[in-house]
Amino acid sequence: MNWTCCECENKYDNSTGDVDERMCYECLDGESFAEMEKKMFDKLIKENIEMRRKILSILKRGTFADLRTIFDALSEIGYKEAS
Ligand SMILES: [Zn+2]
Repeated sequence: MNWTCCECENKYDNSTGDVDERMCYECLDGESFAEMEKKMFDKLIKENIEMRRKILSILKRGTFADLRTIFDALSEIGYKEAS
């Protein structure tokens, strides 16, 4: 039996699509990829906010003795000093 994909409107059957999702596998794969991208983006934003908060809290204390801590925080978030 053939069904029509609710996304691309191509025909699919049991072997080329998911009847419960009413989508062909091509569209299902595309959707999960978009979801994955969104999750990564959300994670990146969240990390960015935490990183900013961390650096700001260090800068608020604001002495040069904290410079070391700032470099530690920067390296923690993946910043590398230019060599
Ligand atoms: Zn489709």
